[in-house]
Amino acid sequence: MALEAETKAIVAKFDYTDDDVNKAVDEFLRQMAEGLGKDGTSLSQIPTYVTGVPNGTEKGLYMAVDLGGTNFRVCSIQLNGDSTFNLTYTKVAIPKKLMVAKTAEELFAFLAKQIELFLKTNHEEQFVAHIRRRMTVSSPDGFRDENVFRLGFTFSFPVQQIGINKGNLIRWTKGFDIPDAIGKDVCALLQIEIDKLHLPVKVAALVNDTVGTLMARSYTAPGKTGAVLGAIFGTGTNGAYVEKLANLKKPLLGEYDKSTGDMVINTEWGSFDNQLSVLPNTPWDMALDKTSVNPGIQMYEKRVSGMFLGEILRLVLLDLVKNPAVSFFRDDNSNSNDWKSTTTIAQNSGIYTPWGLDTAIMSVAASDNTPELSVLRQELESTLNIYSPAYDDAQAFKAIAGAVAHRAARLAAVAIAAIVLQTGKLTDPALADEPIDVGVDGSLVEHYPYFRDMIYETLRIIKGVGEEGAKRIRIGIAKDGSGVGAALIALVAANMEKNTTPADYLAELRSQAINHHLTTVPEDGETVATD
Ligand code: ADP
Ligand code: MG
Repeated sequence: MALEAETKAIVAKFDYTDDDVNKAVDEFLRQMAEGLGKDGTSLSQIPTYVTGVPNGTEKGLYMAVDLGGTNFRVCSIQLNGDSTFNLTYTKVAIPKKLMVAKTAEELFAFLAKQIELFLKTNHEEQFVAHIRRRMTVSSPDGFRDENVFRLGFTFSFPVQQIGINKGNLIRWTKGFDIPDAIGKDVCALLQIEIDKLHLPVKVAALVNDTVGTLMARSYTAPGKTGAVLGAIFGTGTNGAYVEKLANLKKPLLGEYDKSTGDMVINTEWGSFDNQLSVLPNTPWDMALDKTSVNPGIQMYEKRVSGMFLGEILRLVLLDLVKNPAVSFFRDDNSNSNDWKSTTTIAQNSGIYTPWGLDTAIMSVAASDNTPELSVLRQELESTLNIYSPAYDDAQAFKAIAGAVAHRAARLAAVAIAAIVLQTGKLTDPALADEPIDVGVDGSLVEHYPYFRDMIYETLRIIKGVGEEGAKRIRIGIAKDGSGVGAALIALVAANMEKNTTPADYLAELRSQAINHHLTTVPEDGETVATD
């Protein structure tokens, strides 16, 4: 009984009321406007120099890599020009020690090596042709530069972008910490390592995963209109949206196409409300922040994304385990355990290790509706080394994990609603019944059961959105959106290279991209079409 009462009290601490949600939306809108006006604000609102979204007719073969936070993905994408694509893909986990390497070189050399492996496995022909040419031609500079793969580099950390394939790292997030890389151009860091391996690859575009997701959703979504928002709920969380140029008050450094009247903005919303004026703050949120590599920042992300939800839960559970007044994962004797055993938490259980509880188990808890919670109990054994957990332990675990995730989904709705409201599309009579497309990506939104339903449930109670508005918002998974999106931006970049004046790149890519592509490595050094 004590456990049940204590669980209830804990769950209540993760309540985020309708009123809280509505206050947070107002504050989000305020911080968005602030970030559009000047630098150094909570929401960075970084201009991406991407001034429009694709419509599904784009074509060509491109490469993309994605450094997300947990995994490194390498892929090649054939855009078919009819809203469809074919994607070849590999993924490796980023070794923990490289996340905190001494030098940037260590990390980027590893990334280049993965690109080499991918090319050898999946594009052997081009790869071999390229190597052969290198060996037979005396001056490597004599190569036609167009004859290499254009690669879109999805780099999901805050970057000051100064060109389509140039951007300096502002700070690491999500547990990375390689001070040597701060302030450096991450595209150059990758290109240097690619060149050391003599790979036929040019880093053509630097892409934030949110922008990639926005582009990918626009390419694949049914209908004529593009998406308004691309959002990530994976290791971290962030969003990019289409803003009116007129609302962008701070000065822009680079050249860009003004004809569309729009600019894609990378909000860096992980840092929303670092000052905690509207975000919830339990003792466990505070404890997590204190032990993180970046105390005081990314405060929204620390309450919403995959990297942190498991750790919040772990801290709560640890308090419960240590609480002498309740029996949690502890039995007086085998009779108090419904499986007539006694629970043991192994000394090496992840529950005792900072960051030792992967958010993935929260999905298992949420989806286990078996009468004895036997799936979750087995998972507690296999991933957390908690042996013979009793039914009431599993029940408490499920309730608390559910509360942490529910709060995260409600907070996710705050960001989505604020951006939809900011675009004005809900009140534009010209768009009356049109859907408002939002692309999402990341393991949390993809795998946590009913995460999107919880977002919708929250959208419905938000002022200015309501039942009707929520119905029009179409949240769709853009799976591997970062790959396809990066390819689309690499395509834009390739076209910009050919044209000194990238006037209206969309018209440009629609008319030119369709027939000709410059991504293979022919023997004769001429460009060839790949489709
Ligand atoms: P990245 O952020 O590197 O692009 P992902 O989108 O796959 O990668 O997100 C990884 C994060 O998602 C990790 O923090 C992990 O704990 C969490 N995660 C992985 N699988 C699940 C799952 N089934 N349910 C909830 N969260 C998950
Ligand atoms: Mg990702």
